[in-house]
Amino acid sequence: MDASLRSFSYSNGTVTFAPRLAKTVRLFCRDYMVTRSALIYLSQQEELKDFATRFRPFKKLTTRFVAGETVDEAVKAIQKINADGCSASFDHLNESVNSSDETGAEVAEYLQILEQIDTTGIDSNVSIKLSQFGLEIDSELAFKNARLVVEDAARRGNFVRIDMEGSKVTQATIDIFKRMRAEFGLNDVGIVLQSYLYRTFEDARQLLTLPARIRICKGAYSEPPEVAYPDKKDVDENYIRVMKLLLSSGGYHGIATHDPKMIGATIEFAQKEGIGKEAFEFQMLYGVRRDLQTKLARDGYNMRVYVPYGKHWYPYFMRRLAERPANIWFVMKNMFKG
Ligand SMILES: Cc1cc2nc3c(=O)[nH]c(=O)nc-3n(C[C@H](O)[C@H](O)[C@H](O)COP(=O)(O)OP(=O)(O)OC[C@H]3O[C@@H](n4cnc5c(N)ncnc54)[C@H](O)[C@@H]3O)c2cc1C
Repeated sequence: MDASLRSFSYSNGTVTFAPRLAKTVRLFCRDYMVTRSALIYLSQQEELKDFATRFRPFKKLTTRFVAGETVDEAVKAIQKINADGCSASFDHLNESVNSSDETGAEVAEYLQILEQIDTTGIDSNVSIKLSQFGLEIDSELAFKNARLVVEDAARRGNFVRIDMEGSKVTQATIDIFKRMRAEFGLNDVGIVLQSYLYRTFEDARQLLTLPARIRICKGAYSEPPEVAYPDKKDVDENYIRVMKLLLSSGGYHGIATHDPKMIGATIEFAQKEGIGKEAFEFQMLYGVRRDLQTKLARDGYNMRVYVPYGKHWYPYFMRRLAERPANIWFVMKNMFKG
């Protein structure tokens, strides 16, 4: 590697690239324009995460997809979203929690968010990731932590959505959700399913018998062909199958996508079946297709924007780049602007 890239200074001090980081950067430079999997790989690299979160010019770029580092910043972003006729869902970013003390801090953060929603009167619920609450340490710990948040939300008349993570934790996530549903109401807690997984249609069918409120999305992780459709065409077909199942169930579900084809198929199906606009909601990510978000809201659809914030934005931000590698040009172009 070029000696000039081995170490350089920035405002927080001097960074020296470890050999593994140097390899990571080489892989990025070689593959970033074309491969989704390279970006997902980079999203999991601890060294790069540490570097990126301290490198100011890179951090500045995240504002396109991340609403800030503090609850107050996220509240301001949500106030604007509400003014555009959309509701929101808070997401405190922190996927790599690895001590039970840290999981306690995540619970405290979410309790603070729920309180802030009430104090400020914004229209928002919350989304949680069980890995934040200790799923990779001990599933019982994750259950107990998530339960504290759901209990508080239920008391306040709010709602907690349990996000879905990689396929290694799909079953554990569903199991914890089912325990939660046994204790709390339909409108207190919901779950997410990913249309790229073969198992999802059957999972949706079974969960609807509880019944359950489900968010369907395509899926954001890198999964092997043993568990997930490798072809986008199949992921999309499965998305439409699950969307139809959800809308036909009579429950209130989240159709999470920026894909005009998925949105068009949902609107068409709802119209054909006489399902009202109030019977479901579209959901999109903060900073992605804002034009479409406000258009759907203006057309009378329920539109919820998922609003991530926090210091640990790196893996989330990289997955957004992976979904649309054209965003890399945006990053490169703005990287060193003042
Ligand atoms: C509210 C919400 C919650 C989610 N929760 C989860 C979850 O719990 N677990 C999980 O695995 N995944 C989750 N996701 C991510 C999801 O799985 C997809 O990775 C993501 O939504 C991209 O898929 P898509 O349906 O937009 O379609 P794609 O086929 O990826 O994209 C369709 C079109 O949408 C636009 N687009 C999509 N992504 C971007 C982007 N990043 N920047 C700019 N334009 C873009 C482009 O025009 C693109 O052509 C969530 C997504 C949303 C919207």
